[in-house]
Amino acid sequence: MSFSHLGLSEKVLAAVAATGYKTPTPIQDQAIPHVLARRDVLGIAQTGTGKTAAFVLPMLTMLETGRARARMPRTLILEPTRELAAQVEESFIKYGVNHNKLNVALIIGGVSFDDQDAKLMRGVDVLIATPGRLLDHNERGRLLLSGVELLVIDEADRMLDMGFIPDIERICKLVPFTRQTLFFTATMPPEIRRITEQFLSNPVRVEVSKPATTVATTAQFLARSGRDGAEKRDTLRRLIRSAEGMKNGIIFCNRKRDVATLHRSLLRHGFSVQALHGDMDQSARTAALEQFRKNEVTLLVASDVAARGLDIPDVSHIYNFDVPIHADDYVHRIGRTGRAGRSGTAITIVAGSNDAKAVAAIEKLIGQTIPFMDKLAGAPAEPLHEPNHEPRHEPRHEPRNEPRQTARPPQRGRHEHQRRPQQRPAPVARIEEARSRRAPQPVRQPMDDGDASHLPAFLLRPVPIKA
Ligand code: AMP
Repeated sequence: MSFSHLGLSEKVLAAVAATGYKTPTPIQDQAIPHVLARRDVLGIAQTGTGKTAAFVLPMLTMLETGRARARMPRTLILEPTRELAAQVEESFIKYGVNHNKLNVALIIGGVSFDDQDAKLMRGVDVLIATPGRLLDHNERGRLLLSGVELLVIDEADRMLDMGFIPDIERICKLVPFTRQTLFFTATMPPEIRRITEQFLSNPVRVEVSKPATTVATTAQFLARSGRDGAEKRDTLRRLIRSAEGMKNGIIFCNRKRDVATLHRSLLRHGFSVQALHGDMDQSARTAALEQFRKNEVTLLVASDVAARGLDIPDVSHIYNFDVPIHADDYVHRIGRTGRAGRSGTAITIVAGSNDAKAVAAIEKLIGQTIPFMDKLAGAPAEPLHEPNHEPRHEPRHEPRNEPRQTARPPQRGRHEHQRRPQQRPAPVARIEEARSRRAPQPVRQPMDDGDASHLPAFLLRPVPIKA
C-alpha cells in the first residue's frame, strides 16, 4: 500500500516521496483518512510508530486552504517537552518543503518571550507548544486560542507523569468547542481515559504497537552493585568498558540531579559523554542531543522525562543506572535500542532490596526474568574512589588504559568467554502485549545481597575465584 490512497495533497505526497518513505506505517494508514475527514482521533501509539507524520501530513494538507490571523493560531500541537516540540517542528520543515507560505511557531520554555511574541504577531498556521509557556502567553494577552481549528495532544501519558493534566484541561477549555482533536498516548491510565472522554467527540480509536523487531533483538541483563553512588558509578564504568559492540549508549537515571553528578563523574573518568536533563537550558539540551545524534559523543546520561520520545536511531547500549520506578519506563528506555532489527543490549544496575522489588515489577510486566551478569560487572578492576579533579593532560587518578575521548570498545581478551554472561538474553515483549499476558511468577535469582548497606563495601565486592 502506498501513501497515494490516503487523500493527502500533491504537495505533501511529493515531500513524502522526497524523504524516501514508500509505505505508510499502520498508524499513518489508519489515522490519516480520518484526520482528513475531520474526525477526532484517539491514537494509542508510542514513539517509533510514525505517529508524528500521522498528524503532520494531514495537517499540512488541510492547511493549504485558509490564512492565519495575528495572535490567533489555526492549529495547536501540545508536547510535554521542549525536545519533542522541536522534533515536531522539524517534521513540519521536512514534510512542508513545498508549503512556502506556512508559518510554524515553537512556543517553549527556556527561550526569549519576545521572539515568540513577534512570531505570534505575524500569524501562525501551526503552533507547537509546551503547556506552561503557552498558558503564559495566553495570560499576558499575547495569544488567543479562539481561532484553533485543530488541537493535537501528543504523548498524553507523559503529560500526566509530568503533572500537566490540569494545564491540558485549561487549554482544552480555551480552544473552541467545535475544534477537531487528535489525541496520542502510549498507554491508557484512568486519568487519561477520563480526559479523552471529556474532550474528544466520538473519536476514531486507532491502536498500534511498535513493530516487534524494535525490541525483540535487545539482550537484557541485570548487574549487581553496592547501593552507594560511588559503587554504582564504579559498576557502570566497568560495564561500559567491557561492553561488546559498543557504538553508543544512553544511561538513564531516575533523578535529574543524579544525571548531573554521573555526567561529571564520567567526564572526570575520561568518557565521551553528554547529559540531558530538565534543568539544563534549552540551548545546552539541544547541543547535547545534536552531539549524540551525530556520534560526536558516545554516551548520553539522561532522565526519563528529558529523553522521552526522542528520535535517536540505532543506539547499541542502554544502561539503567537506576532501576526505573515505573515498570513502563523500563520498556520505553530499552525500546531505544534494538531498533529496526539491529541487535542491542540493555543492562540494569540492581543495588539493594528496593531495586529488587522494582525489577520484579518489570519482570512481571514483560512476562519474563532478566538474567544477572555477575561476572562481567563483578571483579573490581580499579579503586572505588572518584578522581577529585578535572584531568589536565594526564588525569592523576585514572587507572591505566582509561578511555579518553570515547567509551572503549569491547576488550576481547583470552578469558573473554569467562566474562560473558552464560544465560540467554531475555528479549523484550511489546508493552501492551506484556500487560495482557499473565506473567509467570519470576524465578528470582537470589538477591541475598539485597539490603546490605550495613556491611562494609569491600565485603560486598565479589572475589574472582581461580579455577
Ligand atoms: P515517530 O513515531 O513519529 O517518532 O517516527 C519514528 C521514525 O519513523 C522517524 O524517524 C520518522 O522519520 C520515521 N518514519 C515516519 N513515517 C515513516 C514511514 N512511512 N516509513 C518509514 N519511516 C517513517
